Amino acid sequence: MDYSQFFSAALNRLHDERRYRVFADLERIAGRFPHALWHSPKGPRNVVIWCSNDYLGMGQHPKVVGAMVETATRVGTGAGGTRNIAGTHHPLVQLEAELADLHGKQASLLFTSGYVSNQTGISTIAKLIPNCLILSDALNHNSMIEGVRQAGCERQIFRHNDTAHLEELLIAAGPDRPKLIACESLYSMDGDVAPLSKICDLAEKYGAMTYVDEVHAVGMYGPRGGGIAERDGVMHRIDVLEGTLAKAFGCLGGYIAGNADIIDAVRSYAPGFIFTTALPPAICSAATAAIRHLKTSSWERERHQDRAARVKAILIAAGLPVMSSDTHIVPLFVGDAENCKRASDMLLEEHGVYIQPINYPTVAKGTERLRITPSPYHDDGLIDGLADALLQVWERLGLPLKQKSLAAE
Ligand SMILES: *Cc1c(COP(=O)(O)O)cnc(C)c1O
Repeated sequence: MDYSQFFSAALNRLHDERRYRVFADLERIAGRFPHALWHSPKGPRNVVIWCSNDYLGMGQHPKVVGAMVETATRVGTGAGGTRNIAGTHHPLVQLEAELADLHGKQASLLFTSGYVSNQTGISTIAKLIPNCLILSDALNHNSMIEGVRQAGCERQIFRHNDTAHLEELLIAAGPDRPKLIACESLYSMDGDVAPLSKICDLAEKYGAMTYVDEVHAVGMYGPRGGGIAERDGVMHRIDVLEGTLAKAFGCLGGYIAGNADIIDAVRSYAPGFIFTTALPPAICSAATAAIRHLKTSSWERERHQDRAARVKAILIAAGLPVMSSDTHIVPLFVGDAENCKRASDMLLEEHGVYIQPINYPTVAKGTERLRITPSPYHDDGLIDGLADALLQVWERLGLPLKQKSLAAE
């Protein structure tokens, strides 16, 4: 039997649907972010990164890099095994304490990624609740969907951010049925925010537990970087908060935070926690340094919002189809996979601007887009350069512009 035909056929399907993904070979330059080297087919070239999820540039912060180097030098590289075997190394103990404090919770538990924390966190929590019904937002991230699926219990999907629909489902489930509401706080493809306060009201009224993914908000929102829940004053009303150390904190790892019993139960029952090696001490120290820094420094958060607002204003004034967004995410509408990929290729090859295309299945077909994430380090000159590059690409591809805004003239 020719097994390789299955794989080449699978790849051909992706090519036909224009969904085949190509990853750029990039090398970031610490201290010069968002500048980077692109190892192009024609050799290395300077480019500017416009779509990083290292939203605040913490991955190059001297305190964070310093903590990583210092810890690796002092205690070595790996964790030496699962926590069951190797014990918990001290930098991890400190990190979990830091995270519990960040979210005002009794405890937190670290996983090897945000993906794993959702997948194994949601499934373990739901499995420990007899006859649990999971109510899940329609636009939840794949890691949450996998967690819900693995839980094996009944689930219902409520329309995205639609609390009236959520309430209908809560009422229909009845007061005696255990219910877990799972949603994100900030949805990263549209940049919209969940009505967390209203969701907490409903959870309290109908006796549901809440699980909120704050991956795209931790470090960036709230006076100490605790996320949208902290900003909206509802952190104490949410049962389980989940976050990543890989985006605004610039490192790697995921976690959940909640009351001591929930966290201890997940620690004790979750296969995706128990049977895998803990994150290395150096990563944990670096993450702790990033979290600590952002608890007291607001400069990054303020500058981040300022830069995002400026990018939106300049692109809108240029007539580019910026999709409305309440946050630091700046989605630019393209509307088909082919043009989205072409625009991205042209930006990189001809303008040294790196923005990867967002196509199906990450977003619905017909809503393909470029997703721009300005950081505190994108200055006015870079923003003007971005607008020029986008306008040239839009013209070359014959993509529609909106009417120029009068306010900008
Ligand atoms: C990126 C992402 C995750 C996964 O986090 P990682 O640390 O990258 O594994 C989880 N949830 C959402 C909403 C995400 O965008």
